[in-house]
Amino acid sequence: MPRFSNKVAIITGSSNGIGRATAIILAKDGAKVTITGRNAERLEETKQQLLAAGVSADNINSVVADVTTSAGQNQIINSTIQKFGQLDILINNAGAAFNDPTGVTGIRQNIELFDKTININLKSVIKLTQLARPYLEKTQGDIRYRNLNFSTPPSPTTPIAKAALGQFSRNAAIELIEHGIRVNCVNPGSVDTGFMGAMDIPDAAKNKVYDFMMTDKHSLPVRKIGKPEDIGHLIAFLADKTVSSYIIGQTITADGGTTLINAMNSHDFFEMLQK
Ligand code: NDP
Repeated sequence: MPRFSNKVAIITGSSNGIGRATAIILAKDGAKVTITGRNAERLEETKQQLLAAGVSADNINSVVADVTTSAGQNQIINSTIQKFGQLDILINNAGAAFNDPTGVTGIRQNIELFDKTININLKSVIKLTQLARPYLEKTQGDIRYRNLNFSTPPSPTTPIAKAALGQFSRNAAIELIEHGIRVNCVNPGSVDTGFMGAMDIPDAAKNKVYDFMMTDKHSLPVRKIGKPEDIGHLIAFLADKTVSSYIIGQTITADGGTTLINAMNSHDFFEMLQK
Protein backbone atom coordinates (compact mmCIF):
# COMPACT_ATOMS: atom_id res chain seq x y z
CA MET A 1 0.00 0.00 0.00
CA PRO A 2 1.38 3.50 -0.83
CA ARG A 3 2.76 5.08 2.34
CA PHE A 4 0.46 8.14 2.29
CA SER A 5 -2.78 6.32 1.42
CA ASN A 6 -5.78 7.99 3.11
CA LYS A 7 -3.60 10.93 4.16
CA VAL A 8 -4.38 14.54 3.32
CA ALA A 9 -1.54 17.05 3.08
CA ILE A 10 -1.40 20.81 2.61
CA ILE A 11 1.84 21.99 1.05
CA THR A 12 2.11 25.76 0.98
CA GLY A 13 4.36 27.34 -1.63
CA SER A 14 3.81 24.41 -3.98
CA SER A 15 3.55 26.54 -7.11
CA ASN A 16 7.33 26.28 -7.39
CA GLY A 17 10.58 24.78 -6.09
CA ILE A 18 10.72 22.63 -2.99
CA GLY A 19 6.97 22.78 -2.36
CA ARG A 20 6.17 21.54 -5.85
CA ALA A 21 8.65 18.66 -5.57
CA THR A 22 7.27 17.73 -2.14
CA ALA A 23 3.66 17.75 -3.38
CA ILE A 24 4.61 15.40 -6.22
CA ILE A 25 6.53 13.02 -3.92
CA LEU A 26 3.65 12.82 -1.43
CA ALA A 27 0.88 12.55 -4.03
CA LYS A 28 2.73 9.87 -6.04
CA ASP A 29 2.84 7.95 -2.79
CA GLY A 30 -0.92 8.13 -2.25
CA ALA A 31 -1.55 11.46 -0.49
CA LYS A 32 -4.41 13.77 -1.36
CA VAL A 33 -2.82 17.18 -1.67
CA THR A 34 -3.75 20.83 -1.41
CA ILE A 35 -1.34 22.74 -3.59
CA THR A 36 -1.22 26.48 -3.22
CA GLY A 37 0.57 29.69 -4.16
CA ARG A 38 -0.30 33.14 -5.51
CA ASN A 39 0.79 32.59 -9.09
CA ALA A 40 -2.07 30.79 -10.89
CA GLU A 41 0.03 29.87 -13.91
CA ARG A 42 2.82 28.25 -11.92
CA LEU A 43 0.28 26.50 -9.70
CA GLU A 44 -1.35 25.06 -12.81
CA GLU A 45 2.10 23.81 -13.87
CA THR A 46 2.35 21.92 -10.56
CA LYS A 47 -1.09 20.44 -11.17
CA GLN A 48 -0.08 19.34 -14.67
CA GLN A 49 3.09 17.72 -13.30
CA LEU A 50 1.01 15.87 -10.71
CA LEU A 51 -1.38 14.61 -13.38
CA ALA A 52 1.54 13.60 -15.59
CA ALA A 53 2.95 11.65 -12.62
CA GLY A 54 -0.27 9.61 -12.54
CA VAL A 55 -2.00 11.42 -9.66
CA SER A 56 -5.79 11.44 -9.97
CA ALA A 57 -7.43 14.88 -10.37
CA ASP A 58 -9.72 13.92 -7.47
CA ASN A 59 -6.67 13.91 -5.18
CA ILE A 60 -5.65 17.48 -6.03
CA ASN A 61 -7.06 20.63 -4.44
CA SER A 62 -5.57 23.65 -6.15
CA VAL A 63 -5.90 26.97 -4.30
CA VAL A 64 -4.62 30.31 -5.54
CA ALA A 65 -4.05 32.24 -2.32
CA ASP A 66 -1.71 34.59 -0.50
CA VAL A 67 -0.66 32.93 2.78
CA THR A 68 -0.03 36.30 4.41
CA THR A 69 -3.73 37.22 4.26
CA SER A 70 -6.38 35.96 6.58
CA ALA A 71 -8.67 35.26 3.57
CA GLY A 72 -5.92 33.16 1.97
CA GLN A 73 -5.14 31.24 5.16
CA ASN A 74 -8.81 30.39 5.72
CA GLN A 75 -9.31 29.43 2.10
CA ILE A 76 -6.39 26.97 2.21
CA ILE A 77 -7.65 25.19 5.33
CA ASN A 78 -11.40 25.35 4.61
CA SER A 79 -11.19 24.21 1.00
CA THR A 80 -9.04 21.25 2.08
CA ILE A 81 -11.59 20.14 4.66
CA GLN A 82 -14.43 20.71 2.22
CA LYS A 83 -12.81 18.62 -0.52
CA PHE A 84 -11.09 15.88 1.46
CA GLY A 85 -12.89 15.91 4.85
CA GLN A 86 -9.71 15.75 6.97
CA LEU A 87 -6.15 17.01 7.36
CA ASP A 88 -3.15 14.86 8.34
CA ILE A 89 -0.06 16.79 7.26
CA LEU A 90 0.62 20.54 7.14
CA ILE A 91 3.80 21.53 5.33
CA ASN A 92 4.48 25.21 5.93
CA ASN A 93 6.86 25.69 3.06
CA ALA A 94 5.95 29.06 1.49
CA GLY A 95 8.66 31.59 2.14
CA ALA A 96 10.62 34.36 0.53
CA ALA A 97 13.42 36.87 0.93
CA PHE A 98 13.19 40.42 -0.34
CA ASN A 99 15.65 42.96 -1.63
CA ASP A 100 15.47 46.43 -0.20
CA PRO A 101 14.48 48.53 -3.27
CA THR A 102 16.50 51.43 -1.88
CA GLY A 103 19.67 49.31 -1.99
CA VAL A 104 20.22 49.50 1.76
CA THR A 105 21.73 46.33 3.21
CA GLY A 106 22.35 44.87 6.67
CA ILE A 107 20.66 45.87 9.86
CA ARG A 108 19.97 49.41 8.59
CA GLN A 109 17.21 47.99 6.39
CA ASN A 110 13.87 49.59 7.08
CA ILE A 111 11.35 48.15 9.47
CA GLU A 112 8.72 47.71 6.73
CA LEU A 113 11.02 45.17 5.08
CA PHE A 114 11.30 43.29 8.38
CA ASP A 115 7.48 43.32 8.65
CA LYS A 116 7.04 41.99 5.12
CA THR A 117 9.60 39.23 5.67
CA ILE A 118 8.20 38.22 9.04
CA ASN A 119 4.65 38.15 7.64
CA ILE A 120 5.46 35.52 5.03
CA ASN A 121 8.15 33.50 6.81
CA LEU A 122 6.80 33.49 10.37
CA LYS A 123 3.34 34.93 10.96
CA SER A 124 1.66 33.05 8.13
CA VAL A 125 3.06 29.82 9.59
CA ILE A 126 1.80 30.60 13.08
CA LYS A 127 -1.67 31.41 11.77
CA LEU A 128 -1.92 28.33 9.54
CA THR A 129 -0.78 26.17 12.45
CA GLN A 130 -3.53 27.66 14.63
CA LEU A 131 -6.17 27.09 11.96
CA ALA A 132 -5.00 23.54 11.20
CA ARG A 133 -4.66 22.43 14.81
CA PRO A 134 -8.24 21.19 15.45
CA TYR A 135 -8.13 19.07 12.30
CA LEU A 136 -4.66 17.70 13.06
CA GLU A 137 -5.77 16.79 16.56
CA LYS A 138 -8.45 14.58 15.04
CA THR A 139 -6.00 12.74 12.79
CA GLN A 140 -2.95 12.88 15.13
CA GLY A 141 -1.21 14.63 12.29
CA ASP A 142 2.11 16.26 11.54
CA ILE A 143 3.44 19.71 10.82
CA ARG A 144 6.66 20.61 9.05
CA TYR A 145 8.26 23.96 8.88
CA ARG A 146 10.75 25.18 6.42
CA ASN A 147 13.65 26.84 8.04
CA LEU A 148 16.75 28.66 7.00
CA ASN A 149 19.41 29.14 9.51
CA PHE A 150 22.30 31.00 8.09
CA SER A 151 22.92 34.69 8.05
CA THR A 152 23.35 36.51 4.77
CA PRO A 153 25.22 39.82 4.94
CA PRO A 154 23.12 41.73 2.35
CA SER A 155 19.87 41.19 4.23
CA PRO A 156 19.42 39.80 7.71
CA THR A 157 15.61 39.92 7.59
CA THR A 158 14.96 36.38 6.34
CA PRO A 159 17.45 34.63 8.66
CA ILE A 160 15.94 36.54 11.58
CA ALA A 161 12.42 35.42 10.61
CA LYS A 162 13.59 31.84 10.09
CA ALA A 163 15.42 31.76 13.41
CA ALA A 164 12.17 32.82 15.08
CA LEU A 165 10.40 30.11 13.11
CA GLY A 166 12.80 27.54 14.55
CA GLN A 167 11.89 28.67 18.05
CA PHE A 168 8.18 28.67 17.23
CA SER A 169 8.43 25.12 15.94
CA ARG A 170 10.05 23.98 19.20
CA ASN A 171 7.34 25.70 21.23
CA ALA A 172 4.63 24.19 19.03
CA ALA A 173 6.26 20.75 19.17
CA ILE A 174 6.26 20.50 22.94
CA GLU A 175 2.71 21.82 23.22
CA LEU A 176 1.17 19.80 20.42
CA ILE A 177 2.78 16.41 21.05
CA GLU A 178 0.44 16.09 24.03
CA HIS A 179 -2.37 16.16 21.49
CA GLY A 180 -0.67 13.63 19.24
CA ILE A 181 0.59 16.17 16.72
CA ARG A 182 4.29 16.03 15.78
CA VAL A 183 6.14 19.15 14.70
CA ASN A 184 9.53 19.09 13.01
CA CYS A 185 11.57 21.50 10.99
CA VAL A 186 13.67 21.11 7.85
CA ASN A 187 16.66 23.32 7.26
CA PRO A 188 17.82 23.33 3.62
CA GLY A 189 21.10 24.64 2.33
CA SER A 190 21.41 25.93 -1.22
CA VAL A 191 18.70 24.47 -3.41
CA ASP A 192 18.12 25.48 -7.02
CA THR A 193 14.54 26.79 -7.07
CA GLY A 194 12.69 29.98 -7.91
CA PHE A 195 13.91 31.51 -4.64
CA MET A 196 16.52 33.87 -6.12
CA GLY A 197 14.30 34.69 -9.11
CA ALA A 198 11.62 35.80 -6.67
CA MET A 199 14.18 38.30 -5.35
CA ASP A 200 14.68 39.62 -8.89
CA ILE A 201 18.17 38.11 -9.06
CA PRO A 202 18.79 37.27 -12.74
CA ASP A 203 19.59 33.65 -13.69
CA ALA A 204 23.11 34.67 -14.79
CA ALA A 205 23.89 36.03 -11.31
CA LYS A 206 22.32 33.01 -9.65
CA ASN A 207 24.41 30.66 -11.76
CA LYS A 208 27.55 32.63 -10.94
CA VAL A 209 26.90 32.19 -7.21
CA TYR A 210 26.16 28.48 -7.67
CA ASP A 211 29.27 27.97 -9.81
CA PHE A 212 31.38 29.59 -7.12
CA MET A 213 29.85 27.44 -4.40
CA MET A 214 30.20 24.23 -6.38
CA THR A 215 33.89 24.78 -6.96
CA ASP A 216 34.62 25.93 -3.43
CA LYS A 217 34.84 23.23 -0.79
CA HIS A 218 34.65 25.91 1.88
CA SER A 219 31.14 26.83 0.76
CA LEU A 220 29.66 23.55 -0.26
CA PRO A 221 31.62 20.42 0.67
CA VAL A 222 29.43 18.15 -1.48
CA ARG A 223 30.21 20.44 -4.47
CA LYS A 224 26.73 20.35 -5.94
CA ILE A 225 23.68 22.52 -5.50
CA GLY A 226 20.67 20.77 -4.01
CA LYS A 227 17.63 19.79 -6.05
CA PRO A 228 14.11 20.43 -4.71
CA GLU A 229 13.62 16.65 -4.44
CA ASP A 230 16.59 16.40 -2.03
CA ILE A 231 14.50 18.36 0.45
CA GLY A 232 11.15 16.87 -0.63
CA HIS A 233 12.26 13.33 0.26
CA LEU A 234 13.37 14.49 3.71
CA ILE A 235 10.00 16.18 4.27
CA ALA A 236 8.23 12.99 3.15
CA PHE A 237 10.32 10.95 5.61
CA LEU A 238 9.32 13.28 8.45
CA ALA A 239 5.69 13.16 7.37
CA ASP A 240 5.67 9.36 7.41
CA LYS A 241 4.80 8.26 10.93
CA THR A 242 5.70 4.67 10.23
CA VAL A 243 9.38 5.59 10.03
CA SER A 244 9.83 8.87 11.93
CA SER A 245 7.31 8.87 14.79
CA TYR A 246 10.06 9.19 17.42
CA ILE A 247 11.39 12.45 15.94
CA ILE A 248 9.76 15.37 17.75
CA GLY A 249 10.58 19.07 17.57
CA GLN A 250 13.82 18.62 15.66
CA THR A 251 15.39 20.66 12.92
CA ILE A 252 16.97 18.41 10.33
CA THR A 253 19.54 20.02 8.08
CA ALA A 254 20.11 18.99 4.45
CA ASP A 255 22.77 21.32 3.14
CA GLY A 256 25.50 19.39 1.34
CA GLY A 257 27.78 19.83 4.32
CA THR A 258 27.76 23.64 4.46
CA THR A 259 27.17 23.85 8.20
CA LEU A 260 30.17 21.59 8.85
CA ILE A 261 32.43 24.40 7.77
CA ASN A 262 33.72 26.52 10.58
CA ALA A 263 36.60 28.90 11.04
CA MET A 264 39.13 26.11 11.54
CA ASN A 265 38.20 23.54 8.95
CA SER A 266 37.24 26.03 6.26
CA HIS A 267 40.95 26.48 5.60
CA ASP A 268 43.67 24.07 4.67
CA PHE A 269 45.36 23.24 7.95
CA PHE A 270 48.81 22.59 6.48
CA GLU A 271 48.65 25.70 4.30
CA MET A 272 47.83 27.68 7.43
CA LEU A 273 50.90 26.36 9.22
CA GLN A 274 53.17 27.25 6.30
CA LYS A 275 52.17 30.94 6.30
P1 NDP B 1 10.56 29.20 -4.54
O1 NDP B 1 10.62 30.67 -4.76
O2 NDP B 1 10.84 28.29 -5.69
O3 NDP B 1 9.16 28.81 -3.91
C1 NDP B 1 8.56 29.62 -2.94
C2 NDP B 1 7.10 29.29 -2.88
O4 NDP B 1 6.48 30.10 -1.87
C3 NDP B 1 6.41 29.57 -4.19
O5 NDP B 1 5.52 28.53 -4.49
C4 NDP B 1 5.67 30.87 -3.91
O6 NDP B 1 4.47 30.91 -4.65
C5 NDP B 1 5.35 30.71 -2.44
N1 NDP B 1 5.05 32.00 -1.82
C6 NDP B 1 5.89 33.04 -1.62
N2 NDP B 1 5.23 34.07 -1.08
C7 NDP B 1 3.95 33.67 -0.92
C8 NDP B 1 2.77 34.28 -0.42
N3 NDP B 1 2.77 35.54 0.07
N4 NDP B 1 1.62 33.58 -0.43
C9 NDP B 1 1.60 32.32 -0.92
N5 NDP B 1 2.67 31.67 -1.39
C10 NDP B 1 3.83 32.35 -1.40
O7 NDP B 1 11.58 28.91 -3.36
P2 NDP B 1 11.97 27.57 -2.57
O8 NDP B 1 11.26 26.40 -3.08
O9 NDP B 1 13.43 27.55 -2.50
O10 NDP B 1 11.43 27.98 -1.14
C11 NDP B 1 10.68 27.10 -0.32
C12 NDP B 1 11.07 27.35 1.11
O11 NDP B 1 12.42 26.92 1.32
C13 NDP B 1 11.02 28.82 1.53
O12 NDP B 1 10.42 28.93 2.80
C14 NDP B 1 12.48 29.23 1.58
O13 NDP B 1 12.71 30.26 2.52
C15 NDP B 1 13.12 27.92 2.03
N6 NDP B 1 14.55 27.82 1.76
C16 NDP B 1 15.02 27.75 0.47
C17 NDP B 1 16.38 27.64 0.23
C18 NDP B 1 16.95 27.56 -1.14
O14 NDP B 1 18.19 27.57 -1.28
N7 NDP B 1 16.15 27.44 -2.18
C19 NDP B 1 17.36 27.61 1.35
C20 NDP B 1 16.76 27.65 2.65
C21 NDP B 1 15.39 27.75 2.83
P3 NDP B 1 3.89 32.17 -5.45
O15 NDP B 1 5.03 32.95 -5.97
O16 NDP B 1 3.04 31.51 -6.48
O17 NDP B 1 3.08 32.90 -4.43
